[in-house]
Amino acid sequence: MNRIERTQELVGILEREHALSDEALSDLLDILEETGAERTVQIRDAIPAAVCTPEEAVLYAAARKVREQYYGKDVYLRGLIEFTNYCRNDCRYCGIRRSNTKAERYRLSDEQILRCCGQGYALGFRTFVLQGGEDMYYTDERICGIVRAIRERYPDCAITLSIGEKSRESYLAYREAGADRYLLRQETSNPEHYRYLHPAQLSIENRKRCLSDLKEIGYQVGCGIMVGSPGQTREHIIEDLRYMQDFGPHMIGIGPFIPHKDTPFADEKAGSLYDTLHLLAIIRLMLPGVLLPATTALGTIHPAGRELGLLAGANVIMPNISPGDVRGKYLLYDGKICTDDEAAACGRCIDLRIRKAGYITAMSRGDCAGFDTAHK
Ligand code: SAH
Repeated sequence: MNRIERTQELVGILEREHALSDEALSDLLDILEETGAERTVQIRDAIPAAVCTPEEAVLYAAARKVREQYYGKDVYLRGLIEFTNYCRNDCRYCGIRRSNTKAERYRLSDEQILRCCGQGYALGFRTFVLQGGEDMYYTDERICGIVRAIRERYPDCAITLSIGEKSRESYLAYREAGADRYLLRQETSNPEHYRYLHPAQLSIENRKRCLSDLKEIGYQVGCGIMVGSPGQTREHIIEDLRYMQDFGPHMIGIGPFIPHKDTPFADEKAGSLYDTLHLLAIIRLMLPGVLLPATTALGTIHPAGRELGLLAGANVIMPNISPGDVRGKYLLYDGKICTDDEAAACGRCIDLRIRKAGYITAMSRGDCAGFDTAHK
């Protein structure tokens, strides 16, 4: 069997069974890696950079087909509000880690956050994502106050939090205040790799505890990893896919690792565009109904990264709607895109990219397919 036939076979199994053995997964990843020297198949004429190998074409076409069965041509937008870059943690990959004394720190006030939501709402956003470092200034009381205020003003919008590891009680309180979704990447499921990326205070056990609590409490939960993070091996990636399959998240955020100059990983290599696209497509086939963003990090390592992500099975984009004067300060990695634009310009640019990729910008809440929101 030649490589393209083997790819067709493996992708066929993934499409039918949403599962593949470790050996078969490794085989597929090997083929994709080995055949990656020359990309001659044009996926979409409107995007000249959208070229792939014949093997990738098989994989991506299957991912798009499955994605369209669940979500049609819709791409959901989330208005991302990066409300604080203070952080008590010292993750070795992250530009806003505590030890980075060069980071210029900021916090948004309740009014500033609500103003962002107002602007976002006028632009059509129906999901707001509040993301930040683990900043103890924002006590549970403050977070709940902000969530309640957004919930009251924008009852038709989904509220997503991405503020790190908290106790079950805190997660419960945010949910009761009106939060619908929570993003917390596991970063890596392998304990040893986890310890390599994180300070001693953090553990994969607690991270997984958080994710399980969030799911039990009734959030739509997003987990995920960085692709090509320092020390990551093929085995780690397969371990992550297994974890995600077992856990059953509603969203999976994956993007390439990108070094930040003022972190211990400053001299490490960035994750690759193609490895990220392969994983997006494989995840789409393994967890067909999952919400899968084409991330800002993907758009940072390649000018057409997010469009390519959509062509590999992603169905969500999270434009930045933070105030212009703080955008350049939420620097998790070097070269982050969209730090100069205003929210309106960002929206237009994203809409154009989505249309070029052959999809439609959906201005709805964009809940996970099959998730029951009726109980709210
Ligand atoms: N404090 C929150 C938000 C973290 S920022 C939390 O802990 O969940 C969101 C994501 O950015 C992280 O989960 C991580 O996967 C990603 N990230 C951080 N540094 C990065 C880097 N150098 N390159 C690529 N992605 C990075």
